[in-house]
Amino acid sequence: MTIPAFAPLSVQPIPNLSDEINQVRLDTAKIVSEYIIPKEELLRRPREDTERQSFVYEIQEHVKQQNLWAPHLPKEYGGMGIGFLGHAYMNEILAWSPFSNPLFGVVAPTSGNESLLVKYGTEEQKEKWLMPMIRGEITSCFSMTEPDNAGSNPRSIQTTAVRDGDEWVINGRKWFTSNGVHASVAVVMCRTEGEGDDGDPNEKMTQILVPTDTPGFNIERSVPVWGNAGGNHCEITYNNVRVPLENALGARGTGHQAAQDRLGAGRVYHCMNCVGQMWRAFDLMIKRATTREVHGGPLYEKQMIQDFIAESYMDIQAARLMTIHCAEVIDNDGDSRTEISAIKVFVPNAMHRVVDRAIQVHGAMGVSGDTPLAGMYLSARTLRIADGPDEVHKILMAKNILKHYAAGKAWDFGV
Ligand SMILES: Cc1cc2nc3c(=O)[nH]c(=O)nc-3n(C[C@H](O)[C@H](O)[C@H](O)COP(=O)(O)OP(=O)(O)OC[C@H]3O[C@@H](n4cnc5c(N)ncnc54)[C@H](O)[C@@H]3O)c2cc1C
Repeated sequence: MTIPAFAPLSVQPIPNLSDEINQVRLDTAKIVSEYIIPKEELLRRPREDTERQSFVYEIQEHVKQQNLWAPHLPKEYGGMGIGFLGHAYMNEILAWSPFSNPLFGVVAPTSGNESLLVKYGTEEQKEKWLMPMIRGEITSCFSMTEPDNAGSNPRSIQTTAVRDGDEWVINGRKWFTSNGVHASVAVVMCRTEGEGDDGDPNEKMTQILVPTDTPGFNIERSVPVWGNAGGNHCEITYNNVRVPLENALGARGTGHQAAQDRLGAGRVYHCMNCVGQMWRAFDLMIKRATTREVHGGPLYEKQMIQDFIAESYMDIQAARLMTIHCAEVIDNDGDSRTEISAIKVFVPNAMHRVVDRAIQVHGAMGVSGDTPLAGMYLSARTLRIADGPDEVHKILMAKNILKHYAAGKAWDFGV
């Protein structure tokens, strides 16, 4: 059996999906497989490389002409306006290449903050921060996790914002604030309990917009992640940082809900991203298994490798169907808490297994920088912690399910 080295990734229209979303998937697949994947070596070069910069500009212009720019934003903000399901389905294609997202105008964490500002921002906040982010003039960061308190329980956050006249005064220490070095503005999760507080534990937090050049905003270091200190996951102290009261993003006490909004839909996008990466890893694994000769025959003839292929197929298919089911529950305004937690646990774990097998099939090449597999492996492992660790989501799932039964109902897997 021979498989061409550059067989394009296979995407067909999905029956029962709208023509619009199918077209978005096909158009995205064409750009990713024909233009981006063959140029991954170039895209791996430093950002300052001029050849890389002009390629990035060229592709971004092409993406805009094809109406595929900023799938996370409504049309009135220059985005595609394809809605939640469309974005989710597009993400599994985008994720085939680790370089795609910025080429389509989606750059985390700024994209998440843009969605927050669209939903909670005042007209002044949108003018001052959202529009420059969309125009690519500034970037931002999201500063919630703290070194001395459990990030897995956001109610434990101790960074305070206290009212003083017409200003908030912020004090605390955060870490893992991604993109902290380049950001012009930080969305900072602060404890604002006290005066006017009705004691509800979910209403003690407020997100506050802090320009990063405000006195008292101090980046202490970039925390190394997987041995890489250049990732800009920053440890930041907030020492008597003063910003106007109108910098609160949403009403006082809505910080917890806003964070859940940001993370809820975000988890579906992350999981569709994982599905796309698994899909690519699966493709790479099969290409390698059909072209590599070991011990007197091609790898694919060894039954242990056939086991890898079959197990990976099941992992990807299960992960994908679970994620689509979750997206449909959200899209139908159903209670999606159990489904969101389920995919947040299952999908990164499935990706971890699939990428691990693909790496094994590639031998030493699998851990090299010559394929995207090593990066995928680290991101799958990281995702089992970021945005809520596995254990916390399992507890949430069990609580929701048990509550359902305690109310005299049984679980309905069909809806
Ligand atoms: C690469 C990366 C980027 C990140 N970017 C950002 C960012 O931009 N902004 C931001 O604010 N944060 C960011 N984070 C932080 C991330 O959201 C937190 O790490 C995560 O929420 C977990 O919090 P924690 O690290 O404090 O772990 P902890 O809360 O201390 O938990 C540690 C471990 O305890 C276990 N555990 C927790 N609760 C339970 C329980 N009830 N039962 C059993 N076991 C339990 C889990 O195994 C968990 O992994 C990032 C993290 C990483 C790794």
